[in-house]
Amino acid sequence: MDVDNSRWPLRLAEHAAARRESGLWRARRLHSHDGPLSDFAGNDYLGLARDPRLAEAQAEGARRHGAGAGASHLVSGHLAVHEALERRLAELTGRPAALLFSTGYMANLGTLQALCDGHTQVFQDRLNHASLLDGAALAGARSRRFHHGDLSDLSRLLERAPRDALRLVVSDGVFSMDGDVADIAGLSAVCADHRAWLMIDDAHGLGVLGEHGDGCVGRAHGIDEVPVLVGTLGKALGTAGAFVAGSRELIDHLIQFARPYVYTTAQPPAVAAATLRALDILAAEPERRHRLHDHVARFRVEAARLGLPLAPSTTPIQPLVLGDSARVMRWAAALHEAGLLVGAIREPTVPRGQARLRLTLSAAHSDAELDRLLAALARRQDAENAA
Ligand SMILES: *Cc1c(COP(=O)(O)O)cnc(C)c1O
Repeated sequence: MDVDNSRWPLRLAEHAAARRESGLWRARRLHSHDGPLSDFAGNDYLGLARDPRLAEAQAEGARRHGAGAGASHLVSGHLAVHEALERRLAELTGRPAALLFSTGYMANLGTLQALCDGHTQVFQDRLNHASLLDGAALAGARSRRFHHGDLSDLSRLLERAPRDALRLVVSDGVFSMDGDVADIAGLSAVCADHRAWLMIDDAHGLGVLGEHGDGCVGRAHGIDEVPVLVGTLGKALGTAGAFVAGSRELIDHLIQFARPYVYTTAQPPAVAAATLRALDILAAEPERRHRLHDHVARFRVEAARLGLPLAPSTTPIQPLVLGDSARVMRWAAALHEAGLLVGAIREPTVPRGQARLRLTLSAAHSDAELDRLLAALARRQDAENAA
């Protein structure tokens, strides 16, 4: 029988062609962490990902517990090391309880899916991470998006929302492509006025901001202000995974209803062991955070002197918004030639016309590496001005 099964391959070919034509084709490059490139693209803000003490804790954890958890948390994969890590994360963030997830993406999916349904009113900052939008979609809830950081736009949307509906306001803590920090006190005040709960995803703030590295929410803003707090472990803490912190009732609710928690294998226990070590180092070596903030301050002073298009960010995420994607790719290529790896961020990750280099600073960078970055940026700027 002659069955025409060419429709799927055709569909793939059409999408591929459209993506290439738009100049937005995404390709992975092979990276080597011991190669010659200085990495100004990653999220290893404290230099912990390659700290030998974490590697040793992970190796020791694997020898003790094995390479994997072997089951989901609700079957037989929930081990004492997970429980210990949850306790430490709750302490760090000043919350009664915390729940580990395998990734930040899943923590956001699971939390929104478990909290919301088709009747919930969800309000999201326009620049929120994709996983927050996807989580609301998974819940069947419609997300209303407010202008970035605009509390009066948020209030306006809340005023229009049906009176009897539950409301959840959702925001990144530190915006991942812009580096600016949400106004947590302002958001929580608006939420209090409109009987909404506030959920903050502090993926990029945890370990970096706050007096104890407890993030932009942390102990400064308790569960009355921010009932739902998400943090990730694959950025400043250098390992992998994520957690939700909040009341015991919130955590119990997630254990019951968050499908991306229930139906997945528990995080490898060795990763939890390494994360515990990362938390020890976070507490014992505040100089890492100080060094990082010194790098940020120095970068901003010198980049401003060069007239580079800095964004209003005081965090280790320092975007240079260059506008069109071709220009961003040229700058990224020139920096690559100079031995510097930077993020080239285009739509749809950021709005059209706001393509940017996403530079991230780390406590692991030497002063000499920062010098090289600034020198290469200056050369690129001169080359463009001369052309
Ligand atoms: C990176 C990131 C996530 C996803 O975390 P993973 O652990 O990498 O899945 C979620 N939210 C924000 C704001 C992020 O930047």
